[in-house]
Amino acid sequence: MKLLSVIVPCYNEEENVPYFYEELMKQESFFREKGVGLEIIYVDDGSKDRTVPEVRRLHDRDERVHLVSFSRNFGKEAGIYAGLSKAKGDFAVLMDADLQDPPSLLPEMYSYIEQGYDSVATRRVSRKGEPPIRSFFAKRFYRLMRRISKTEIVDGARDYRLMTRQVVDAILSMQEYNRFTKGIFGWVGFQTKWLEYENIERAKGETKWSFWKLFAYSLEGIMAFSTAPLAIASVLGVLFCFLAVILIIVIVVRTLIFGDPTSGWPSMVCIMSMLGGVQLLCIGIVGQYLSKTYMEVKRRPLYLVKEEL
Ligand code: UDP
Ligand code: MG
Repeated sequence: MKLLSVIVPCYNEEENVPYFYEELMKQESFFREKGVGLEIIYVDDGSKDRTVPEVRRLHDRDERVHLVSFSRNFGKEAGIYAGLSKAKGDFAVLMDADLQDPPSLLPEMYSYIEQGYDSVATRRVSRKGEPPIRSFFAKRFYRLMRRISKTEIVDGARDYRLMTRQVVDAILSMQEYNRFTKGIFGWVGFQTKWLEYENIERAKGETKWSFWKLFAYSLEGIMAFSTAPLAIASVLGVLFCFLAVILIIVIVVRTLIFGDPTSGWPSMVCIMSMLGGVQLLCIGIVGQYLSKTYMEVKRRPLYLVKEEL
């Protein structure tokens, strides 16, 4: 008998925990016929509502339900890592608690694993029901990432992904502190089959991602999988040196021909403030990478567990 681990990161999902369980169990018979057992790992990411008691209740009824509960909110990325570490399955699948990742897709996903794929990933082809500015910036972000990063990051990719044990171990071997899961999946490689589906709105509760949280997350993604911003700083430096040489020549020639009537105070101020700005920007970029390095070097744990079932 093989085992499939279903990993569900939850942050304030009290209503979705039992609902998700019911919906998932509709797929149970398919897997039983295939000789695959299920295990469900709810990772509670420091929820402030009744998420943990709800999982405990399910655990009392069904011993295949497990819980990892964090001491505080560590973010979904940490939740994914914790779930994958706890998973004992020959396969693992990551799913959101809000049922935006439809369990009805599982049989199809599994059939590709049977065909020999190492992982089956999903992407949504529409962003129906999402605020338009969010979709706009998301599209820009993926386009930018494709240009500046060597790692493949697919537009609309979800974290809904079925993987073999080999892929799970590869992901667990990446112990970086700044985790950008979409990039990590691309980085580890392996044979991946992509399935597409229309966006589904969340079942209950509200999204945990504000616009600014997403914006910060996208910067995190850029810095974790690209060093292009650092290169931009060097390119700017070269450009300004070049400009300066031309200006010097112009001024020397002009002074030789027309003499030196005192003027040019406003242009001087403009040039100085512009260069000052560019320098601060570049130092800022370097600082961002330095701060990421600082966090990596500290080697703090990705999460702290308060309770486990
Ligand atoms: N989530 C989490 N920790 C967080 C934020 C979200 O574990 O800090 C979980 C959340 O409970 C859900 C999944 O990650 O199961 C996706 O979150 P959400 O549905 O809010 O994001 P969206 O689908 O709107 O991008
Ligand atoms: Mg969601």
